[in-house]
Amino acid sequence: MNKTNRKKFYDSQTWKSCRKLVLKRDNYLCQLSIKQNKLTPADIVHHIEHFEDNPSRALDMDNLLSVCSSCHNKEHPEKGRKKDKRRMKSRRMMI
Ligand SMILES: [Zn+2]
Repeated sequence: MNKTNRKKFYDSQTWKSCRKLVLKRDNYLCQLSIKQNKLTPADIVHHIEHFEDNPSRALDMDNLLSVCSSCHNKEHPEKGRKKDKRRMKSRRMMI
């Protein structure tokens, strides 16, 4: 899955309507926060099986979950991990 295909997918009307259905199913609440007894509005629809790993499940409602951005970052620690570490180090040094 290359970047162009990925962008095409996220821009597609099919994905947009599928995303809406998932949010509606989950009452527009983060399904991971609910497990911790927190009610957080969901702003992201997360692929349980990553889109890149299994594009055939990209529109499978069972593979989609409404989450908030902070939970989503936990689900994808590979995103911006390096930057965060560096930031934390410099902060620690300042203290
Ligand atoms: Zn959450």
